[in-house]
Amino acid sequence: MSHDAAPVTSRRTRRLGRGVLLAAVVLLAWSFVATVVQTRDRQRSALDTRLQAVAVDRARTVAERFDRDRVQLLLMARDPSFVDIYDGAGRVAGVANGSRAVTEARAALRYLSTIYGKALNEVCFIDTSGAETIRITEGREALPAQLSTDESDQPFFAAALARPVGSVVQPAPYRSPDTGEWVLATATPVRRPDGQGGVLHAELQVEYLRSALADDESDVTVQIVDRATGAVLVDSRYPQVISPELGTPDDLSYAPLAGIGDTAGARDVDGSRVVFRRLALSEGNANDWIVVASAPRVARGLTAGLSWHAFALAAAALLLLALGGLVFRNHQQRLHRAATSDGLTGLANRNLLLEVVSEQLATAGRDGGSLALLLLDLDRFKEVNDTLGHQWGDELLRLIGPRLAPAIRGTDMVARLGGDEFVVLLRNVDDEDTARRVAERIVGLLEKPFQLGTLSCGIEASIGIAIGPRDGADVHVLMQHADVAMYVAKQNRFGVTVYEPSLDGHNPRRLSLLGELRVAIEEHQLVLHYQPKVGLAESSRRSVEALVRWHHPDRGMVPPDEFIPLAEHTALIQPLTTYVLDEALAQCRRWLDAGMDIAVAVNVSARSLHDPSFFDLVTGLLARHGVAPELLEIEITESAIMADPKGARDLLARLHDVGIRISIDDFGTGYSSLAYLKTLPVDSLKIDRSFVRGLGADHSDEVIVQSVIDLGRNLGLSVVAEGVEDRDTARRLTDLGCTTGQGWYWSRAVPAEELTGWLAERPPSVPVGAPPVK
Ligand code: C2E
Ligand code: CA
Ligand code: CA
Repeated sequence: MSHDAAPVTSRRTRRLGRGVLLAAVVLLAWSFVATVVQTRDRQRSALDTRLQAVAVDRARTVAERFDRDRVQLLLMARDPSFVDIYDGAGRVAGVANGSRAVTEARAALRYLSTIYGKALNEVCFIDTSGAETIRITEGREALPAQLSTDESDQPFFAAALARPVGSVVQPAPYRSPDTGEWVLATATPVRRPDGQGGVLHAELQVEYLRSALADDESDVTVQIVDRATGAVLVDSRYPQVISPELGTPDDLSYAPLAGIGDTAGARDVDGSRVVFRRLALSEGNANDWIVVASAPRVARGLTAGLSWHAFALAAAALLLLALGGLVFRNHQQRLHRAATSDGLTGLANRNLLLEVVSEQLATAGRDGGSLALLLLDLDRFKEVNDTLGHQWGDELLRLIGPRLAPAIRGTDMVARLGGDEFVVLLRNVDDEDTARRVAERIVGLLEKPFQLGTLSCGIEASIGIAIGPRDGADVHVLMQHADVAMYVAKQNRFGVTVYEPSLDGHNPRRLSLLGELRVAIEEHQLVLHYQPKVGLAESSRRSVEALVRWHHPDRGMVPPDEFIPLAEHTALIQPLTTYVLDEALAQCRRWLDAGMDIAVAVNVSARSLHDPSFFDLVTGLLARHGVAPELLEIEITESAIMADPKGARDLLARLHDVGIRISIDDFGTGYSSLAYLKTLPVDSLKIDRSFVRGLGADHSDEVIVQSVIDLGRNLGLSVVAEGVEDRDTARRLTDLGCTTGQGWYWSRAVPAEELTGWLAERPPSVPVGAPPVK
C-alpha cells in the first residue's frame, strides 16, 4: 500500500546509514590496526638493523683482538734471544747470573706486559720439558722458586709444541692456576736448529674482552656465547668475577642458539630480540663463539606501535564519525518526524499509526495483551468547513487533539488519518468496555463548545472501535473493522459502536452502493413516491411530500434511509437533489395540467444550504416547469439549520422571498432556540414522528407535541404531525390543536398515478402556511 512506502523507505535509509557508519568504523579500526602493525614492523626492522650493526661490529672487533694477540705473540717470538738462551745441552744458560740472552728475553716479555698492561695475566717462556724458565705475572717477574716446573699438561702446551714455528694456538678460556682468573691463552713454539726450544705463552684476562663489546649509548646488550653450549662467556653489562664458572651471572645462556649452524641470524628469545654473528677465526683458535646483540623486543600489545599522531588521527576520525553519526541521526529523526506526523495538527499521521499498531499487535500476539483502535469521524465537519471557511475548519481540527487529552493516558496515541478522521490507539486495554467508556468520554468532550472566532459550537462524532488482536491481528484488517464499526455508529447515530463480525455486511455494501447510486441517478432508477399532508379537521388535501425511492435492478427497493446519508457524505447529494426537484416539479406540472393545483414538498439536505447555486437551481426549475413558487415547499431538517444558522437563514430568506414555502422537518429533535426560530422565514413545523408515535402512551411525548403546536400557533406557523398511523392519533392531534397530519393512516408514500385518484376525491384546503382555522 502506498502509505507504507514512507516508513519502509526511511527504515531502509536508516539501515543503510547504520551500515555506512559501521563500515566507516570497521575501516577506521582496520586502518588503525594496520598503522599500528606497520609501525611495529618498522620499529622491529629498525631494531634488527641496529642490533645487526652492533653484532657485526663487535664480532669483527673480537676477532681482531684474537688476531692482535696472535700477532703480538708472533712478533715477540721472533726475538732471537728466545733461541739463544739455550746452551748446547738444551738448558737455559745463565738464568741466574743474567746472561745477555736471558736479559733480552726478559725485556721482550716485559714489553708485552707493557703493551697489554693489566689485561695481561702472565707471559712466560716454557722449555721443552714443560718447565717455566721466565715468567712475568701482573707486571712482575717471578722468583725462581715461584716458577712452575711442569706446565706440560696445560691445554696449550702440547698443541703449541706440535705446531710449526710461526703458528699460534688459542685454546678455550681456562682458569689460571696462578691467579684464579679466567684467561684466554695464546701459545707459539720456539725452535732451535738442534731441535731445542720451548713455548712462548701469554694469558690475557677474559674480562679484557668486555671493553671490546660495550656500547654505552644504547640499551643493546652484547654478549659472547659459546656456540656449542650456548653459555654466555662475556656479558657487556657484568664484569667477570673470580669464580669456578666462566660467565656471569650463572643463569644467562642462549640455549636456543646452542650448536647453531648459521653464521648470522636473528631470533626472538623470551622478551628479547636477538641478533647473532659467528666469529671468523684464524687457524688454531679453538674459540668457536658467536657475538649476540640483544634488546628488549618491540612489544606485541596494541599500544606498542602507536605514536601520538596515530592516536590523534584515530581520535579525530572517531570524532568526525561520531559527528557524522549525530548529524545523520538528527536528519533521520527530522525525516522520520516529517514522514510520521500530520502537517496540520502535529499529531501522528497514518504512516506512524500503522507502524505503531503493527508493533503493538506483534507484542500483543507474543505477550497476550490487547489494544483498542478508536476510529473517530466528526459529524458534519464539512458543514463547518463550508460555512466558516477552511481557516476555521483547520483550527477546529487542530483543537481536536488537545481536547481528547483528558480521556487518554500518556501511553496512548492520537493520530489523524486525514480529513476529519482521527484514530485513538489505546494500548493495553483489558476489555471492550474500557475502550467503550473512553470513546464515550471522547464524544462527551467533543460536544463541549469549541471557540472558533466569534462562534462557539460543539462537535458530534462517531467512533468505531476494534479490539486487536481479537478483531484483527493485521493492522489493515483491524483498521478496516474499526471503519465498519464507525460507519455503523455514524449511520445509526449511535455515537460509539464496537466492531463485531455481523456488522461486516455494511462496508462492502456501502462502497458498492455509492458506485451504483451514481449510475442510478444517471439512469433514472430513482423514482418519487408521494405522500399527502392532510387537513385534520376536514380530511382535505393540503399538499404532498415527495419521497425518493431506488428501484435497484438487483437489490430491489432500497429505502432512502440507506442511500440518502451515503449521498450526503459525498458530492452525489447535489445531483440527487436536482433530480428530485426536477421530477417533483414535473409531476406538479402534470397535476396542474390535470386541473389540480397541488403543492409539492421536497426534502433538501444541509449541503444544499451551502450550495451557492441552489437558489438559481430552484428558481430555474420552477420557471422551466412553469410552476408557481407557492406550489413548492422545501423541507429542511432542524439539525441542518442549526449546523449553520446564519447561512441557512440567508438562503431560506431568499427562497421565501420569491414565494417558496419553508418547512422545518423532524422538528423537536434539533434543540433550536425559540428566539432564533422567530427570526427564520418559516411557514410550517413538522413534528417528528418519534413524538407522534408516543401520543397516548408517553406523557412526555404528549407534552412535546402540545408545546410544538402551541409554539407554531404563537408564531403563526402551520404545524404538521408526521407518522400518523391510526385514527386515535389523528383524533388526539386534533384535540391538541394540530391542523395537519401525514401518515399511513391516510396513505403511504405511493407512485403519483396511485395518488392522483385519492387526491381527486379530497377537497383542497387552505394553502399551507396560512393561519390555522380556529
Ligand atoms: P422524512 O422527510 O421525515 O420523511 C418521512 C418519512 O416517514 C418517510 O420515510 C415516510 O415514508 C415515513 N412515513 C410516512 N408516514 C409514516 C407513518 O405513518 N409511519 C411511519 N413509521 N413512517 C411514515 P422514507 O420515505 O423512508 O424517507 C425517509 C427519509 O429519507 C425522509 O424522512 C427524508 O429525510 C429522506 N428522504 C426521502 N426522500 C428524500 C429526498 O428526495 N431528498 C432528501 N434530501 N431526503 C429524502
Ligand atoms: Ca420530510
Ligand atoms: Ca420528517
